[in-house]
Amino acid sequence: MSSLRIEHLVKHYAIRTGFASRQMLHAVDDISLDLGAGETLGLVGESGSGKSTVGKCVTMLERPTSGHIFLGDVDLTTLSYNELRPVRKDIQMVFQDPSDSLDPRRTAGETVMEPLTLHHIASGKDAIERTAKLFEQVGLKPEHMVRFPHQLSGGQQQRVGIARALATDPKVIVLDEPTSALDVSVQAKLIKLLRDLQRERSLSYLFISHDLSVIGYLSTRVAVMYLGQIVEIGETRQVFERPHHPYTMALMSAVPASNPLERRERIHLSGEIPSPIAPPNHCRLVSRCPFAVPACSQQPAVLEPIAPGHLVACHRAVKGEIPIPTFAFGSTVTVDSLEGGAAVEGLE
Ligand code: ADP
Ligand code: MG
Repeated sequence: MSSLRIEHLVKHYAIRTGFASRQMLHAVDDISLDLGAGETLGLVGESGSGKSTVGKCVTMLERPTSGHIFLGDVDLTTLSYNELRPVRKDIQMVFQDPSDSLDPRRTAGETVMEPLTLHHIASGKDAIERTAKLFEQVGLKPEHMVRFPHQLSGGQQQRVGIARALATDPKVIVLDEPTSALDVSVQAKLIKLLRDLQRERSLSYLFISHDLSVIGYLSTRVAVMYLGQIVEIGETRQVFERPHHPYTMALMSAVPASNPLERRERIHLSGEIPSPIAPPNHCRLVSRCPFAVPACSQQPAVLEPIAPGHLVACHRAVKGEIPIPTFAFGSTVTVDSLEGGAAVEGLE
């Protein structure tokens, strides 16, 4: 059974576009995803593609405009604020910038202990002991418990964020770019910690990142987002080695190969990501896609299978009308490549 199932998730924001005019910004437009028990699903895409909005909707920090979010067999979108409270302990979130997400007036120990008392998991001495254990599990020392966020390094702050997320022993953790505010060497250590914690606790991760090497290292499957929609999804190796959607091809071709003998053909997208206000009903990449033909503007782009579990929203790729490049998976996904920095150019 899947731990988390997202069905037709839509999130639109009403935004002011003039003195008396409002328009809908399509942050997330009809996406469906499944996350298996103990699995990591990577969510990649440029800044503004809607990744964080998916994370916030899945954890119900934001109410979806429509769609369903099943945690086990409970549809979170049908629950009231009070009904959500006990369910929240099963799904937690780790945020991008720990210095923003930690309360500056609380010690690290208080921050990690809070969910234990809030969810009546432990109190008093028991809560302190559990907190100390969580500190140990994320590689922090007991003395860090009495420090305030500004007295900790960025890496230590994010370890506090991870310990807090683990405190309620959740089934699913949404990690929204958890290491991208950190130095690359710190980043690699945290990625290894997250992988070890997942194995020990059989956690499911929805791992949001614009860094393909991080996703390649941690994720069994990957979903590629563009302007609020999923354009390609499949096993990470399938998608990274033989990307079929022109957008995924462009992302992959922008990763510097760690093997100097591998020649990566660059697939360029021209121009900026278009506005998510009133996006077209047809393929949203048309304005930037090197393979676009008039037919691309005449029909909606729907996800279609090209191999078991590998779906692509490009009718030209599905029909075999565009050349599919091959990339060496290994040179993208090592933790060494993390230290060398394999973030996609032009993304965030
Ligand atoms: P990503 O995490 O991929 O960078 P986001 O989910 O943060 O993307 O944003 C997707 C789109 O939704 C962007 O165009 C962003 O400006 C817009 N957006 C996000 N949050 C809000 C909000 N609260 N109100 C209005 N627009 C928003
Ligand atoms: Mg984001």
